[in-house]
Amino acid sequence: MTSTQTLANEPWLSAAATRRVMLALGDARFVGGCVRNSLLGEPVDDIDIATPHSPDEVIRLVEAAGLRAVPTGIEHGTITVIANSKPFEVTTLRRDVTTDGRRAVVAFTREWVEDAARRDFTMNALYADAAGNLHDLVHGLADLRARRVRFIGDPSHRIAEDYLRILRLFRIHAWYGRGALDADGIRACVEARQKLSTLSGERIQKEMIKLMAARDPMPVLEPMSETGILAELVSCDVRLQRVQALCEVDRESGFKPDGVLRLGGLFSSLAQAKAVSERWRLSNEQRDRLSQMLSGGAAIRFDISEQEFKCRLYRTGSEATLDQVRLAWADDNRPGRRSNWKKLVAQAEAWKRPQFPLNGADVMSAGVPQGPQVGRIMAQVEAWWIDNGFKDARLQVLDEMHRIIAALK
Ligand code: ATP
Ligand code: MG
Repeated sequence: MTSTQTLANEPWLSAAATRRVMLALGDARFVGGCVRNSLLGEPVDDIDIATPHSPDEVIRLVEAAGLRAVPTGIEHGTITVIANSKPFEVTTLRRDVTTDGRRAVVAFTREWVEDAARRDFTMNALYADAAGNLHDLVHGLADLRARRVRFIGDPSHRIAEDYLRILRLFRIHAWYGRGALDADGIRACVEARQKLSTLSGERIQKEMIKLMAARDPMPVLEPMSETGILAELVSCDVRLQRVQALCEVDRESGFKPDGVLRLGGLFSSLAQAKAVSERWRLSNEQRDRLSQMLSGGAAIRFDISEQEFKCRLYRTGSEATLDQVRLAWADDNRPGRRSNWKKLVAQAEAWKRPQFPLNGADVMSAGVPQGPQVGRIMAQVEAWWIDNGFKDARLQVLDEMHRIIAALK
């Protein structure tokens, strides 16, 4: 990696959609994650573009070029430009006017260096123009080469502007850093750790779930735990070793790292998960997933019988069962058992929920009046059907239903 390096050969940069946006804007540069990740050889998901044009000018310019502009965050200068169905976040250059640790009042500027200076880390403030030439205004390239996540300016000062940067230091390091965390940075984070309580749950959650989804989050989770930073976010004792074991299973088995699953791995009880879900304002979907993962009775054993496993899949659903298998595997990761766990994973992934071949109308046409009794009978027949291996034999199921109804009389 040399300073004359360009991004000219990046497919996302030379893509027709990207070129249309850059051509429409004229004076504009790529910035942040897309530049950083390209230089590191990591995948690029979203493309952020900075420009000295005001948001109104951005709208005018891109619409004149036949592109669609959506004012997704116009109050802080962001317009989402859609080209060939692909979104690009275009933000007017900004500088912070006032900050209170939670949100900043920003002013637009035409100075690139001011826009660079209000960003968090040197490796996040690299710009590239439409031709792919790099613009390194805060000496980010050398840090990127060394995979050193370093604050721009004085860490304590930068953290006091926005306490979320404490978590971003750990998150960005987990994904893109190498070696020890920056000593000045971590010192400033530790000093300010109690201010984490002033952050909204949504902001904490976004960074923390991303952090947990790093290939290996342990090198940052350990210092976060040792310095009391994790305790500011999660008030119970956490099971870091279990998260480590989950990461090892991921590496061995090729699972994609999953931030929510690993978060679940931290907790010893449903109550703990619920308290954190509340504080971090997790989505309903994430909450449901955590509670299903952490309930459902005894842990799955590596030698569970096929029938018992199918029963769990039917009752719990394949996604929650798969989460439970991954947790149980992490707790019981012995070499001799790996093939058993792999088999359970494959079975859960291939599972298609069988359809119970009986409905309420069947029960009522056998003479049971509408009411709660119908549901009770259905549940009994279903339990029999599950115990008998989900046989798709409607006649047998009807026979069993008649037997149960007769026994009630
Ligand atoms: P990812 O690839 O995970 O999206 P990213 O660097 O693009 O990483 P974003 O959260 O999308 O991260 O932010 C985009 C850019 O905005 C960052 O690279 C950084 O320059 C700037 N930024 C984001 N959050 C902050 C913050 N709290 N303080 C200062 N700058 C920030
Ligand atoms: Mg991004």
